[in-house]
Amino acid sequence: EFGEDEGNDADMAPRPPVVTVMGHVDHGKTKLLDALRNANVVAKEAGGITQSIGAYQVTTEVDDTERPITFIDTPGHEAFTAMRARGAQATDIAVLVVAADDGVMPQTVEALNHAQAAGVPIVVAVNKVDKPDADPSKARGQLTEYGLVPEEYGGDTMFVDVSAKSGTGLEQLLEAIVLTADASLDLRANPDQNAEGLAIEAHLDRGRGPVATVIVQRGTLRVGDTIVAGSAFGRVRALLDEFGDSIEEAPPSRPALVLGLTAVPGAGDNFMAVDDDRIARQIAEKREARERNAALAKRSGRRTLEDLMREVEKGETTELLLILKGDSSGSVEALEDSLSQIDVGDEVDLRVIDRGVGAITEANVNLATASNAVIVGYNVRAQGKATEMADREGVQIKYYSVIYQAIEEIEAALKGMLKPIYEEHQLGQAEIREIFRSSKIGNIAGCMVVGGTIRRNAKARLLRDGNVVADNLDLSSLRREKDDVSEVREGFECGLVLRNYGDIKIGDIVESFELREKPRD
Ligand code: GDP
Repeated sequence: EFGEDEGNDADMAPRPPVVTVMGHVDHGKTKLLDALRNANVVAKEAGGITQSIGAYQVTTEVDDTERPITFIDTPGHEAFTAMRARGAQATDIAVLVVAADDGVMPQTVEALNHAQAAGVPIVVAVNKVDKPDADPSKARGQLTEYGLVPEEYGGDTMFVDVSAKSGTGLEQLLEAIVLTADASLDLRANPDQNAEGLAIEAHLDRGRGPVATVIVQRGTLRVGDTIVAGSAFGRVRALLDEFGDSIEEAPPSRPALVLGLTAVPGAGDNFMAVDDDRIARQIAEKREARERNAALAKRSGRRTLEDLMREVEKGETTELLLILKGDSSGSVEALEDSLSQIDVGDEVDLRVIDRGVGAITEANVNLATASNAVIVGYNVRAQGKATEMADREGVQIKYYSVIYQAIEEIEAALKGMLKPIYEEHQLGQAEIREIFRSSKIGNIAGCMVVGGTIRRNAKARLLRDGNVVADNLDLSSLRREKDDVSEVREGFECGLVLRNYGDIKIGDIVESFELREKPRD
């Protein structure tokens, strides 16, 4: 299952924080990222020049311990938000850059809203303190009003005065990041499992083919691993760090450039290492088909609440995102409150990504398009070109005038979204003793049932020397002597065919099993 560490507490090891730099335009985000990166080059004494691979790691010393920090090298909250809209969260900590001369500006507030909505702790870098008109206390006072209270005022947000230009305060900023991570996050991951993480950037390179920058979130990514990233897959041919140097492996939180993929994944796509090339191809192909279907559905202008539910049933999404518009702030609040009380367990996520008073606008439809959300209008209607645009983009707008009706319908939708849970039940095993070739139905396995029962129309897998060589097969034909039978018990011989699978050997074990739906409580 993607997104969860395997193993138990003892398998977890600390991992570095992953940081995004946000703030108002021209407040120095880019310059700060450059300054931190360059400071690191000096520290690495290799004289190497960092390449822009979209992320880099620096190391700082806190309490005599070397502490790495990963920075995502795309300033601003747009990339952060775009990834979140795809359900990915790469960032552990946000550095909010505020220019000491300007103070808090509109995008400062926007950035901090996004970080707070994502539950990401914030460290404030008060930048440009070298300027004559710098007033670092101004930002502190202003941000207090937004709930970011500086430690020195008795709050729990760390503010650090820096100058990206002269380099002052950079070490203190790194230290503040580490301390904030230690104080409010338990950043650990299992390094000893198949690697999983996020592709944060990818493009087609003329010489090298598809290249993707990934951040490993758990496990260790190694050269030679087979990975699936979105609908791309392939075997990792080389891993490069931010110095352009080859590395053999990338542990949790390490960014690396991956070469060897067959296609270019999207920014924000998950990647994972799998044990088998064939499985990688299958997953990638399935995803590609799914993306194609989604694109088709979108073009034909239909994506309804029901479609979303269907996607969830197929395991394609487990999120229902909503944008709420109402005729008064009271009604929007009431709607959101009631929605938050719907209990659907932890399998489906209901999230209100935006809310507001007034008509449904083109901006609302835009956000819904980008984030795959449904718009709920409570006693309001769409205005201007919003309806037309929603039709074109395949965004569903649901209108309600009674709150409980809205709640009932959305609750029912969410209940329908819950996937059935299947449990595997072993039926039996048969050993292949002979193989008959048939041009009509493929290879027939002459078997002895060595345990339990073999059942026709059940699922089957093939074991060789104790290893699974093929899984989730269908047992399409089962015979005893000359008769078609539905099952054969232990101690009897039978002939069977695995649908579309002929790669069997004498000595292989055919395991028969069933998937049974587990009742939900
Ligand atoms: P961004 O839009 O937030 O990425 O801002 P930039 O990093 O592009 O910086 C905007 C401008 O502010 C540029 O002209 C920088 O040279 C300047 N600048 C950035 N940091 C500092 C600083 O610490 N001190 C001074 N004096 N200027 C800075």
